[in-house]
Amino acid sequence: MPDTKPIFNILLVEDNELNQKFALAVLRKLGYQIDVAENGLVGLEKFKSKKYDIILMDIQMPEMNGIEATMAIRQIEALEGANKHIPIIAVTAFALEQDRKNCTEAGMDDFLAKPYKPQELEQKILDVSRRFGIY
Ligand code: MN
Repeated sequence: MPDTKPIFNILLVEDNELNQKFALAVLRKLGYQIDVAENGLVGLEKFKSKKYDIILMDIQMPEMNGIEATMAIRQIEALEGANKHIPIIAVTAFALEQDRKNCTEAGMDDFLAKPYKPQELEQKILDVSRRFGIY
């Protein structure tokens, strides 16, 4: 593995404009490429049309929430077969144990509670990318 910093394509699925701006500022500063989807439905369309390395997924969103969007993504991957599995990190203010359980059951891989510090987001991305061997 090369020792250079990976250029990840990250998809941020988040409906709140302030949360979008905060995450964008953090991720761009870290050198990641990032696209934003303003709800789960748009996120699903972007997932279908471009290859991403990681998805950051809000839960509460209009049109399609993060749980539904994650389940739809996992369904597409299952149909495509070949052990496809994009890492999805839930980023949500819903931080109760049951919320985490719902995220896991929907097919999410990790969980970051809002509000978060920039280094917490960075660490979560690094953890997940290590787990999935994508760097
Ligand atoms: Mn939201």
